[in-house]
Amino acid sequence: MFAKQLQKYFFTVVVLASILLVYLWYKDYSFSSSPLEEKHQLSILKKQQELKVLAYRNFKIKKEFPLIVSDKMSAQRFGMTTYDRNKNIIIHLNKKRFKESSNYMINDVLPHEYAHAIMFYFKDFTNENSGHSKRWQNICKQLNGLRCDRFVNHEDILIEKTNPFK
Ligand SMILES: [Zn+2]
Repeated sequence: MFAKQLQKYFFTVVVLASILLVYLWYKDYSFSSSPLEEKHQLSILKKQQELKVLAYRNFKIKKEFPLIVSDKMSAQRFGMTTYDRNKNIIIHLNKKRFKESSNYMINDVLPHEYAHAIMFYFKDFTNENSGHSKRWQNICKQLNGLRCDRFVNHEDILIEKTNPFK
């Protein structure tokens, strides 16, 4: 009798675990195959507006920098700012990273990248700390950035490269 109950119990556990697994697969699949969730898109827009106002107030910059949320960036990267041969300044955010920490992406990474965009706008292409110079740090802070650390151990700017993901 007890053995039978135990069997039933295990059976239930296995079924529930399988359902959970399928659900997680599905969630993963639907996340990677759909555009960014609407609430994240709205938060990005809101933050972009805020950054635009700060850029104008502190640096007299009227220009808007295009922003692309991409799922083609390598998983280690959060964001990247590129300056291409046609002098386009583009901010890229890694879509894969929104899944775990959208707040961090919007309030930390976006102002960090925006500061790189402003550096490019000023034609400052310094190599110092892979672009994280004292000037960059000051710009980042004036954009109310939360991550204006100069000694980041990653490279997140690309200058005059055609494919930013290589
Ligand atoms: Zn950076």
